[in-house]
Amino acid sequence: MAASTREKGAPQIADGYLDLVNGGAGKSLAKKLGLPQPVRLRRTDPASVDVPLTPGPVLVVGDGDDADTLARTLLGWDVDVRRASAGEPVPDAERWGAVVVVLTELATPADAAGPVLTTASVLRSLARCARVVTVSRRADATDEPALAAARQGVDGFLRSLAKELRAGATGNGIVVADGVPLAAPSVAGALRFLLSARSAFVDGQLVQVDSAAGAVPADWTRSLEGKVAVVTGAARGIGASIAHVLARDGARVLGVDVPAAGESLAAVMNEVRGTALQLDITSDGAGAAILERARRAYGGLDVVVHNAGVLRDKLLANMKPEQWDAVVAVNLTAQLAINADLMAAGLPGLSIVSLASTSGIAGNRGQTNYAFSKAGVIGATRSFAPLLATSGGRANAVAPGFIETDMTASIPFVPRQMARRASSLAQGGLPVDVAETVAFLASPQAGGITGQVLRVCGQNLVGQ
Ligand code: NAD
Repeated sequence: MAASTREKGAPQIADGYLDLVNGGAGKSLAKKLGLPQPVRLRRTDPASVDVPLTPGPVLVVGDGDDADTLARTLLGWDVDVRRASAGEPVPDAERWGAVVVVLTELATPADAAGPVLTTASVLRSLARCARVVTVSRRADATDEPALAAARQGVDGFLRSLAKELRAGATGNGIVVADGVPLAAPSVAGALRFLLSARSAFVDGQLVQVDSAAGAVPADWTRSLEGKVAVVTGAARGIGASIAHVLARDGARVLGVDVPAAGESLAAVMNEVRGTALQLDITSDGAGAAILERARRAYGGLDVVVHNAGVLRDKLLANMKPEQWDAVVAVNLTAQLAINADLMAAGLPGLSIVSLASTSGIAGNRGQTNYAFSKAGVIGATRSFAPLLATSGGRANAVAPGFIETDMTASIPFVPRQMARRASSLAQGGLPVDVAETVAFLASPQAGGITGQVLRVCGQNLVGQ
């Protein structure tokens, strides 16, 4: 049996290769043979967020007003902040914990060279599990061509840089719509999430902030304080981890799962001091039953996490009707019906986060039914976003890649190893990585983020 990999307070991973290349002879051999060298990622614990925000000082590249604003935000978090002018190399040989590259003032493609080359000068001095975060403006079809080109260029730059980073470092971007100030709550919220250990397995992604809505929490470790959250499929795996992380961040949790999983659901809800509801989400009136229980137990409902999901993998040529139907019913139709019930109840400020999958973005052999359902979740999320906005609500999706769960443990050895290595971080993610991302999107500091799909896949080398 593979030895487990565990740092103090960190969750458990059963990835023998990760252990092998992080110790003595295995490490030198992997280096010599040019094999992938995944490192143990800096993570929070589902029970505690007691790790420094970044593993070293933060360099802000840029000298305009927006760079000043972001530097002030960072200083407000007691971070050791240094500044660098675009186009100037950085002399100091620090081990940087993060680099924040401010690209909001790009007007033409020529403007990118300065900040990009300053960033290049520190890439060899990044700490283990460092972060590079670009902050740029959203390119719109109505932008003048040179402006749109420069803004969209950031997308390709960031995604390529993320593939070049090593030693657990990640590269992600924040893309801010015109008119939204850099002091907006969700710019701060996204920056803090992407810099922190909470985003360990989010890599090569761009988080879009479309409005100045939302609020920064009084206490960043309790950003869901006072919120009531329902989590479907909470009895095990990713759902159980989501319940733990939401509760850690201050939410009161109503966990839902099928009656057959009642015992495990009760155990998880005991751990998080939540309430268990045994319910098949495909049953008639599931939405009304959830709302009724949430109101009875906690007096309301603020956050819905649609996590319950099933697989019935088959090549389409061998697909039986019941295999197609079961997957679409649980993964997609049930969410649509529950959301319709909740919206009919007129809940103000409802925040919905749905579990999609990279299979629904890039496709996966043997998963036509599952990928249909998960791509459907993405379509529904985009459609629910403007519908919910009328009552101050939001809808977002999280698309996990390869996550170490009971489900992926059952994949045969060779394809499992290949799936783990086929990402920029060369390892699988953990349920807590998905849970942290769900918690971020659910929280008020993401109030300016809606209709988005955020991948938690270590920049899986498939699809977009
Ligand atoms: P899991 O199979 O371990 O857990 C799913 C839970 O959903 C179970 O407790 C199950 O009882 C519950 N459930 C199933 N049908 C239900 C129903 N009709 N009503 C109520 N509860 C029901 O799965 P997981 O690996 O933890 O995945 C959680 C979510 O993340 C799923 O939506 C899955 O598609 C998605 N996802 C997982 C991965 C991965 O690598 N594990 C990757 C991408 C997406």
